Amino acid sequence: MDTIEFRLTYFEYGADGYSSSAVDIFINDENLLPRIHEFEHSVGCNGGHAPIWIKEFYENLSEGYKKNSIPIYGCVCGVTDCCAIYITVEVSDKTVTWKNFILPDEYLFNKIIYQRRFGEFFFDKAQYFREVEKLNRLFKAEE
Ligand SMILES: [Zn+2]
Repeated sequence: MDTIEFRLTYFEYGADGYSSSAVDIFINDENLLPRIHEFEHSVGCNGGHAPIWIKEFYENLSEGYKKNSIPIYGCVCGVTDCCAIYITVEVSDKTVTWKNFILPDEYLFNKIIYQRRFGEFFFDKAQYFREVEKLNRLFKAEE
């Protein structure tokens, strides 16, 4: 079983000139974003992804996943969809699975190797949703 942790971070999107609260994703105690960047450089693609704004991330993880694949990283410019990494979230009785890692604008070849490289992660459902609810408290504390 994999473990997941969401940590509050700050990111200055595009030309905002100020930092917004955003979410870093740690899987098995390792920040996932550098792994994604490392992979992209190795296949000659410079995605330039950024953590997603905390409220948007929370809404996707608590509700959005039920209808569609959801972004876990967005674009450095602040418009998530412009350069997002999407995943599919599957929830069963006891586990939550993250799979189908995709950068939609990339060539089909890269889509396939994304999925091979990142495969699937399996989280304990209770542990996972505790982390999701932690995000809810964090952004409400900021309002
Ligand atoms: Zn962008």
